[in-house]
Amino acid sequence: MTSLVDAESFKDAWLAGLTAAYGRTVARVPDAYGVRARNAPRPGKVSVIVGGGCGHYPAFAGLVGPGLADAAVVGDVFTSPSAEQVYRTAKAVDGGAGVLFGYGNYAGDVMHFGLAARRLAAEGIDSRTVLVTDDVASGSAETPEVRRGVAGDFFVFKVAGAAAERGDDLDAVAEVARRANDRTRTYGAAFGGCTLPGKSEPLFTVDAGRVELGLGIHGESGARSVAAMDAEAMAAELVDALLAELPAGTERVAVLLNGLGRTKYEELFACYPAIDRRLRAAGLRPHRPEVGEFVTSLDMAGLSLSLLALDDELAELYDAACETPGFRHPGMVPALGDTDPEPASSRAADREPRGGIVHDLLRGALERVEANEDELGRLDAVAGDGDHGQGIVRGLRAAVAAADEAGSRPDDPASVGDALLSAGTALADAAGGASGALYGVLLSETGARLRTAYRLDATALAEAVERACSGVAELGGAEPGDKTLLDALIPFRDTLRDQAGSGTSPARAVHVAAQAATKAASATAELASARGRASRLGARDRGTPDPGATSLALMLTAIADALTDGACAAGTPSRSAPDVATIDAKEPT
Ligand code: ADP
Ligand code: MG
Repeated sequence: MTSLVDAESFKDAWLAGLTAAYGRTVARVPDAYGVRARNAPRPGKVSVIVGGGCGHYPAFAGLVGPGLADAAVVGDVFTSPSAEQVYRTAKAVDGGAGVLFGYGNYAGDVMHFGLAARRLAAEGIDSRTVLVTDDVASGSAETPEVRRGVAGDFFVFKVAGAAAERGDDLDAVAEVARRANDRTRTYGAAFGGCTLPGKSEPLFTVDAGRVELGLGIHGESGARSVAAMDAEAMAAELVDALLAELPAGTERVAVLLNGLGRTKYEELFACYPAIDRRLRAAGLRPHRPEVGEFVTSLDMAGLSLSLLALDDELAELYDAACETPGFRHPGMVPALGDTDPEPASSRAADREPRGGIVHDLLRGALERVEANEDELGRLDAVAGDGDHGQGIVRGLRAAVAAADEAGSRPDDPASVGDALLSAGTALADAAGGASGALYGVLLSETGARLRTAYRLDATALAEAVERACSGVAELGGAEPGDKTLLDALIPFRDTLRDQAGSGTSPARAVHVAAQAATKAASATAELASARGRASRLGARDRGTPDPGATSLALMLTAIADALTDGACAAGTPSRSAPDVATIDAKEPT
């Protein structure tokens, strides 16, 4: 964790912020480590009180608000709250209809909540308890009552909160909450342990290339370690473990794909389609799936899948409206019906690759940039966002594929031009970022000029690069010396023009011009950025060459290395054209 908060003040600090930021729906319970819904207590309404240690946000305090929990009792990190705190919180939110306690099945919580319940009973406040026991990794199906509560907490609390909201009495709320728990199962996988506030080492680590199945939410390592797997295999692992335990006759399941704190939402989404497919293949209909963080474990890397086997009443309660800091559900959105998942991305039918000179040259450039991907990222990270290596590799891969599909022959300038145009469009589309747009223009404008050339001679190349250079300058608005790829492109253009003027072969001309670009790219180290993201950080990047200029020099050098002199191989164009050497690509080695 960061240095923003020290271990001692952690709980107070975040609770103060939670109630300050979400004061419209929640408030602190006076004299207790508790958070209550602003509208609690409500006379005659059962109060649902959840709780446990902190470090699990949005569980538990983030799930307090109308339609969900009336209050949460908050312990220290991964530590049960004390009976005293539970008691005070319950006293504060009891509306006379009794209290339903909901929490995960951990010894400390059971004891403290149990003691508080007895004390409340002595004072005439009735309570019931639902212990959440959804974790299939901790105990067998024969003894579900010994299992831990993990992300399934969310389903159980949501159903209980909705039942209390609609006016059910205490026994009815307890009954439906227990039914939700009985029909909820969770299984998860850990990729890395969490670090306690104030500590610098995680509670456990997962070896590279491994993943631990059967995670806990208190920094425990998993139940067993297996080789890392992709989304498809992970979905199979998680879904199959849960299917085995769903009640017979289950048709609809609420689905919760939960991140443990450090796993990105994007990664969770990447897993979701395989889960959806596998559930449907098993004859189940996913109902209102949720993907995100619901019960976390500090900054643990991992995910868990929870399924709640719905019956009609559970579905109605699960769908009911609520508003809490961590989960909002408007409820009044007209039902749109269960939708089928998006069909798996329909890839354009693979077309025949046709290869050709543009493909070969761009592939050479791609390989050179791939070999330097990390270094380009490092250069960009000095004053930019560090994505240049990744972006340009992604873009060039798309450009290579587009050129492959287009096909191009050195004796057919129009085909070369068209392939470059397609490659430029594909590059800009795939790479994004400033450099993606600029490199896209560079390729496309070169292509646009070469389309109309008689021959691929040095003059045509020089003219094409001239045009491309103008396009890049116009689009980016950079001046020479602004420390951009233009500072490598301009010397390339000028040298190519000089070489063409002196009658050099195209391959030789490109070779000499690429050397000039390389030298100029190195020299950008002496400049300070005046363009792009890097410029906003002052002269921090002085001493480091510009990433875009560096990648351009690498590409041009690779292209020069791949070029050979050669006459048009087959079918000399019938148009009359100056009889000068034309270019060809070396046979790929
Ligand atoms: P982004 O800046 O969007 O993260 P990249 O990191 O991929 O894009 O590319 C950064 C490179 O783009 C810079 O090193 C520079 O060479 C080039 N660049 C950025 N802005 C301009 C501009 N306005 N004109 C010319 N080149 C630019
Ligand atoms: Mg960048």
